[in-house]
Amino acid sequence: MRFCRFGDGRLGLVEESHVRDVTAALDALPVYRYPFPQHDLFIANLDKIMDRVRTIAGSSPSVPLKDVQLLSPVANPSKIIGAPVNYQKHLDEVRGDAQLHHDNQAHIAVIQKTGLFLKACSALIGPSEGIALRKLDRRNDHEVELAVVIGKRANSISSADALNYVAGYTIGLDLTIRGPEERSLRKSADTYAVLGPWLVTADEITNPGNLNLKISVNGEERQNSNTKYMILGVPELIEFASAFYTLNPGDVIMTGTPEGVSPIQPGDNILASIEKIGTMAVKVRAA
Ligand code: MN
Repeated sequence: MRFCRFGDGRLGLVEESHVRDVTAALDALPVYRYPFPQHDLFIANLDKIMDRVRTIAGSSPSVPLKDVQLLSPVANPSKIIGAPVNYQKHLDEVRGDAQLHHDNQAHIAVIQKTGLFLKACSALIGPSEGIALRKLDRRNDHEVELAVVIGKRANSISSADALNYVAGYTIGLDLTIRGPEERSLRKSADTYAVLGPWLVTADEITNPGNLNLKISVNGEERQNSNTKYMILGVPELIEFASAFYTLNPGDVIMTGTPEGVSPIQPGDNILASIEKIGTMAVKVRAA
């Protein structure tokens, strides 16, 4: 199934060129009083929601996909995890370009040594909200990435078991301000984490390790690769991350970007696609 969030927080089931408004299925979610659980409620109850959606979809109103404002398919992740330089050719281009590394990162290491990083959840938006660039005197880059959404609480999981913990997949943009500061600062500005256009549930993508992914800016292709070139694949990233911290339902792993990162400016139009997921359009403006 393909779930989008749209408008003022409605839940949609994506069917070709239309969206079924299945917001009523959210009535199946448990109600909490403060303090709230540290996970995304929709993702934590995805099986229950999918059952409910199967029942009500046929009688739910249908709206053209082109008319809806797409939000992030996950509203409340407890973490957005990033995988730095997880494609060999991107590692080569970073090592070869002084604009992409800075003094404290001149000897940039492979991901096994660099480890993972976190992006602030306040950076998260959906495609319709658009990217608002900060630090316009600096280089700001796009990074298209397969984004994995964790479905079940996961702690110290082996790579062999890891895909059982995945709720689904979506396209991620890991926007980056270049400069000398820590990655987590430069990649956490408001709007610098885009997820969309929708969540494709894991049953539709049995092998996340062989998906074409690409991005164009103003119609010009900038990145075009395949997830088979990731240094650490999805199962290995889940093993790596869950060895350090518990992954909660709704947590997002942005799995790294291939070669071809390049600057974006206010006024640009981004189109990002991943095989078996879809395509999302995102506009760029100044903050
Ligand atoms: Mn990245």
